[in-house]
Amino acid sequence: MARYTGSVCKYCRREKLKLFLKGDRCFTEKCSVDRRPYPPGQHGQGRTRFSSYGQQLREKQKVKRLYGMLERQFRTFFDRASLQKGHTGENLLLLLERRFDNMAFRMGFARTRREARQLVRHGHFTVNGRKVNIPSALLKVGDVVQVKEASRKMGSLNEALDASERRGIPGWVELERGNFKATLKAFPSREDISMPIHEQMIVELYSK
Ligand code: SF4
Repeated sequence: MARYTGSVCKYCRREKLKLFLKGDRCFTEKCSVDRRPYPPGQHGQGRTRFSSYGQQLREKQKVKRLYGMLERQFRTFFDRASLQKGHTGENLLLLLERRFDNMAFRMGFARTRREARQLVRHGHFTVNGRKVNIPSALLKVGDVVQVKEASRKMGSLNEALDASERRGIPGWVELERGNFKATLKAFPSREDISMPIHEQMIVELYSK
């Protein structure tokens, strides 16, 4: 599966917004958005005025990068969202939130979605007692995610759990840190996604 391996901080600088793609570093003074709050590249400090298409494109890129997806996967999720009842943009965000890699991150098992995806791919989790290693699998309410016994001593995982204790986890997740186990109590609602996102612009972009 193709994946982007370059610097992720430039994504944040491009959007002039912290996307929190680097875990603890994002909360320190080393954050690139804090140090260089302008887009990367030769013309980064020049004036930028976006057309409506440009704004829609930026919005799509922002969400795609926030969830660490490439265009094809993202478009597949959009198509799925457009088949559901209700607002497509909102459906899209809620589908993205239900992805296993995102949930593992939200549950506190990883410091970033990228790290969560790697843990999932490497088969460190079970869902309802069965091994699941597909990052795009969608979780359901009541699903129980648990770290495999053999993986519980991993440094990164324990650091992530410590960090989640300091920063808190969402109310729709029940985490039993001692058992390396988390239950999805409810689906998040649109209000639970605090990142500033104008999902309607993504719908407009893909509807052209
Ligand atoms: Fe973004 Fe985090 Fe890098 Fe700051 S440190 S630019 S929030 S990824």
